[in-house]
Amino acid sequence: MELYKGYEMVIGLEVHIELKTKTKIFCSCPTDFGAEPNTQCCPVCMGYPGTLPVLNRQVAEFAVKAGLATNCTIARYSKQDRKNYFYPDLPKAYQISQFDLPLCEHGWLEIESDTDPSGLKKIGITRIHIEEDAGKLIHDDEKGTLIDCNRCGVPLIEVVSEPDIRSSQEAVNYVQKLRSIALYTGVSDCKMNEGSLRCDVNLSVHKPGEPFGTRTEMKNLNSFTFIAKAIEYEYRRQVDAIEAGEAIVQETRRFAQEENKTYTMRRKEDADDYRYFPDPDLPPIELSEDEIARLRAAIPELPDERRARYEQNYGLSSYDALKLTESKELSDYFESCAKTAKTPKIAANMLITDVFRMMTPEDQRICVSPEHFAALSNLVVDQVINSSTAKKVLKEIWGTDKAPEDVVREQNLAQINDESVLRDVVAAVLAANEKSVNDYKNGKLAAAKSLMGQAMAKTSGKANPVILQKLMDEALNQ
Ligand SMILES: [Zn+2]
Repeated sequence: MELYKGYEMVIGLEVHIELKTKTKIFCSCPTDFGAEPNTQCCPVCMGYPGTLPVLNRQVAEFAVKAGLATNCTIARYSKQDRKNYFYPDLPKAYQISQFDLPLCEHGWLEIESDTDPSGLKKIGITRIHIEEDAGKLIHDDEKGTLIDCNRCGVPLIEVVSEPDIRSSQEAVNYVQKLRSIALYTGVSDCKMNEGSLRCDVNLSVHKPGEPFGTRTEMKNLNSFTFIAKAIEYEYRRQVDAIEAGEAIVQETRRFAQEENKTYTMRRKEDADDYRYFPDPDLPPIELSEDEIARLRAAIPELPDERRARYEQNYGLSSYDALKLTESKELSDYFESCAKTAKTPKIAANMLITDVFRMMTPEDQRICVSPEHFAALSNLVVDQVINSSTAKKVLKEIWGTDKAPEDVVREQNLAQINDESVLRDVVAAVLAANEKSVNDYKNGKLAAAKSLMGQAMAKTSGKANPVILQKLMDEALNQ
């Protein structure tokens, strides 16, 4: 990537991931998203006096799993602290989090890099700690601001990275990697549109070789597009400010999605301002070696391992292997296809191009069974249909899950491989397009493309494209 006016950006990320527990972190209220406001809360998560929190064991287990999957050291002994601040969506006026003794520390993730010459880069993970989420404010034009406490006490992990990231692409790759690990390990559903994964970006700029500059923070970015846009804007804003002789102030800035700009929200507070102290109601979290070993054994094959296996076993390119392993669901789907696909590499290509095109941002489901998708790819491998017909058939079986061979038979879509039939098609097209033929013979090579298109159309797209091309070339160059 190219530096703007010779400055390099330095980014550290704090990613909040909601854990997929059935109940909240300190009480037995459910965590389902989208319930009627204030129907999933109790005196504990609303912070009534006299109530006592009890840690949900699953929260610690999920956090440890996330830590193990990101190469962290797991603390045998950690504790929970109160982070004191007043905010309208936090009825207790403090958040239970972890201060100096987090559950997981000193991890790392490897990502694709556009700044490291090797194309890969390790991003350090400073720590992963557990904490509770706050409620939600709903701003209503007529009624004013309302509060929904359903989210109070939903468990989170906060994953804090080292300031190792040097481009918006690296930031996006890092969050994507973290997301896929959370999905593979099953600790979160990571639904960004429901706020299950939110990202705070800390960014400063400096000239390479000089000390880091003052950083600003942008909070609660909940899509990959916004993360990239906010970074690109803030990077240039800071560089231009420094070049104009202004000082960068440590502050929290809001990214306005509509305008693609960031604005000052509040001057930054430091850790001291929160008056952290150990929560007197919660005992420390102590983990035995056996418990950690048990959790380690329960971690499934992770995306990096799967990716290497796909390259090795199926001959996939590293890009294709990366695309297929980003989501566990998709990767599992591909594995089912690979059982009966004659050439898994072809099935993989069709998945990445044709199936990705059929999915919408709202609906990421694949509406064809893996058996029928594998059968469809086999029809291409066996040259029963060509790849453009396969797209047509895919549309027919999407949602109906009909057998692809039935669709091919019923709609007479089989590929035409018969050379004598295709030779007649070519002859007819050339006879009807004397001008294009002359253009071609006078050096306009593009004319051949249009003739090829017409010949393909004449067979309703069913011609074997390799044979048709060969016959066309022969006819044009005799
Ligand atoms: Zn509750």
